[in-house]
Amino acid sequence: MYTIISRNQCNFCDQAKALLGAACQKEHSRTVSTLKKMHPKPVDNVCESCGDVAEKICLDHSHKTGEFRGWLCEGCNHSAGKSNDDPVKLEKLAEYLRERSS
Ligand SMILES: [Zn+2]
Repeated sequence: MYTIISRNQCNFCDQAKALLGAACQKEHSRTVSTLKKMHPKPVDNVCESCGDVAEKICLDHSHKTGEFRGWLCEGCNHSAGKSNDDPVKLEKLAEYLRERSS
């Protein structure tokens, strides 16, 4: 059973590994390995969010359901993780940046 509580506790993303119990980490690693076999890494390393060609591309998946979502560059993957996968927070941040950037 998939038991990751929060995206910020994702061991695949190397975030807060210490927060995960050993059994949970093992299960999560197994889930990510399975997803990688089902959804091979794109050869062009293009981020499915921003469209940049990334040096490192990360498998993105729902930490609630374990479902594959896509491949992201590190920046997009971290942004999604730091927002706890909350699109409303990310939209507010985008609005903030548009308003305050010259
Ligand atoms: Zn990106």
